[in-house]
Amino acid sequence: MAGDPEIHRRGVMFVLSSPSGAGKTTICKRLLAQDDALTLSVSATTRAPRPGEQEGVDYFFKTEDEFLDLERNGGMLEHARVFGNLYGTPRAPVEEALQGGHDVLFDIDWQGTQQLAERAREDLVSVFILPPSVADLEQRLRDRGQDDAETIKKRMNEAFQEMSHWAEYDYAVVNRDLEESVGAVSAILRAERLRRPRQTGLAEFVNAMRGAD
Ligand code: 5GP
Repeated sequence: MAGDPEIHRRGVMFVLSSPSGAGKTTICKRLLAQDDALTLSVSATTRAPRPGEQEGVDYFFKTEDEFLDLERNGGMLEHARVFGNLYGTPRAPVEEALQGGHDVLFDIDWQGTQQLAERAREDLVSVFILPPSVADLEQRLRDRGQDDAETIKKRMNEAFQEMSHWAEYDYAVVNRDLEESVGAVSAILRAERLRRPRQTGLAEFVNAMRGAD
């Protein structure tokens, strides 16, 4: 009915973390393709681009000086050193997306997740993606063919470090099957969008109905 109070929604900051090779990037891509209300936060990093990675799509590739300048000027929502490189979330696009009523998807590590939790716990929903086995994780790192043997060994060690933080997350999904994992992660997002405190204007909506009796 015209003039009825509208129910709006506070945007969700939706974090997916996992050791590299657990399938998180594929899950992120699938979620973004099927959900128009979801925007990816493109991180900045000082690591070199991998073959096929595009500036502004996969990452904003920066020198260490450029990155630190941005960080010092308050331009980062969170940042951390991962595998010796700096990674961070540029603040402005996230604030813009949330203000525009979008949910924002973050592919960040446990350190960044902790920083976001300190700043915006109410708006944060975090999911940890676990590999089905160590053998599977190692195989996926090899299949990716983007890193040399030395890097893979280093990444396996880092994977165990990252995995030790699984219990700090709101949800955990074991990625045994891509379709099932995408379904599970979308179900989490769907339910979290419906959380009562995220639906602003509900009280006015219900009061208007009562007034209309
Ligand atoms: P990769 O180099 O494989 O793209 O990413 C390495 C790790 O850095 C992944 O665990 C990824 O989630 C994490 N990462 C990527 N962007 C960010 C970011 O903006 N902040 C933080 N804290 N971690 C990030």
